[in-house]
Amino acid sequence: MTVRHKLRRRRRTKIIATLGPASSTPEVLSRLFQAGADVFRLNFSHGSHDDHAARIAMIRDLEKQFDHPIGILADVQGPKLRVGRFSGGRIQLQTGQPFTLDLNPTPGDARRVNLPHPEILAAASIGTTLLLDDGKLRLRVTRVRDDHLETIITVGGPLSDRKGVNVPDTVLPIPALTVKDREDLAFALEHGVEYIGLSFVQRAEDVAEAKEIAAGRAWIMSKLEKPQALENLDAIMALSDAVMVARGDLGVELPPEEVPLAQKRIVRAARQLGKPVVVATQMLESMISAPAPTRAEASDVASAIYDGADAVMLSAETAAGAYPFEAVNIMDRIVARVEQDPGWRAIVEASRPEPERSMADAIAAAARQVAHTIGATAICTFTDSGSTALRAARERPEAPILSMSPSDQTARRLAVVWGVHPVVTAQTHTMTETVAKATRLTISEGFATHGDTIVVIAGIPFGVVGTTNALRVAVVK
Ligand code: PGA
Ligand code: MN
Repeated sequence: MTVRHKLRRRRRTKIIATLGPASSTPEVLSRLFQAGADVFRLNFSHGSHDDHAARIAMIRDLEKQFDHPIGILADVQGPKLRVGRFSGGRIQLQTGQPFTLDLNPTPGDARRVNLPHPEILAAASIGTTLLLDDGKLRLRVTRVRDDHLETIITVGGPLSDRKGVNVPDTVLPIPALTVKDREDLAFALEHGVEYIGLSFVQRAEDVAEAKEIAAGRAWIMSKLEKPQALENLDAIMALSDAVMVARGDLGVELPPEEVPLAQKRIVRAARQLGKPVVVATQMLESMISAPAPTRAEASDVASAIYDGADAVMLSAETAAGAYPFEAVNIMDRIVARVEQDPGWRAIVEASRPEPERSMADAIAAAARQVAHTIGATAICTFTDSGSTALRAARERPEAPILSMSPSDQTARRLAVVWGVHPVVTAQTHTMTETVAKATRLTISEGFATHGDTIVVIAGIPFGVVGTTNALRVAVVK
């Protein structure tokens, strides 16, 4: 017998927790979920397919146990560039000294190392900056040859095997999907994940390629972590199903003072389109090794909520940290606290995008307005594809959105969306039946009691995608 604990979050903004060595047992996953994780992220930069398959099975069990949809985001590594190895494992780069990067696979030393990426050699020119190890070290190209680059070390320091390389000011002619990514993508799609995190997107074509492979089986969440992606933001956003402000790599390739502006710009663009947007990386970084966050980190999480993100994400904090539950718990508390601030509500109201000229948006805007006027305790949507719930969430209503869908996949996809409480339930066929079901579910899911009012929106005829055209107010009896 499974125990049914009905879950109702007391906040609108969602939490994504990355899984890793610190979170790979059913007990830990269950505690992370109960602490507030709405979506789990599998990081395909680490771990084997067996590890990921085991975690997916655990998440699906957890979902059954709590009778609540949980989203899975499979984050594929993308073309992460790296230097080769050193004969002693590490070297010291001296500022002002020359250093060569070449195609020779033999282990490196203090004067040279392998750079197994001919694309970088082809795209580099004199003056190109190369960043090593998350931007800690810098090289400037002084000479370009067919099989090597000569550089001068502008910022030195220790460098060890397989450290990352970033080339911020150059569009590299590399696809967003490597051979490994294609294998990981096929695996993730076979295992029925809801979102594919697409790393190092540079152009809209990168998104188009992933979408073609996914063929609707999963939604594509483009990770915005390259300056080139910001230059092509509109086209990338138009094709993506969701986006992530991937501040880790973005902060390596852009000066730090640009990152907050990029975050605000991306969140604004996503809210305009009504597409889910996630703010990620280093949100509670110090909690990898400490039980409480810094004041600056608490402020950073709060700031993403004030910006209006759909979700905030934890990476190493939950994947490899010593305090995974504490990290989710404090994130949950920060989000809930901000959302009680009347100043936050005022910002939400002031930053609401205009409805687009569609029936669905007219109904979504009306639902928000009616719910506000009568103080409804929930807005209930019936949605097959998830689009009615997305349009309702775009309005950022005060009332929570209870989203009913016959599809497990739609419900799980909506787990990442601001304000949406997804429920899987059989298809209804008439408005009367839908209102009756909405009334029952708002009670059983903990959103209403007798005497409360709810607003129900749906598309008639039922089961036809893209027909949101009806609104009904009901008193819960
Ligand atoms: P990553 O992506 O953790 O896969 O690098 C997120 C980021 O770069 O911020
Ligand atoms: Mn990244």
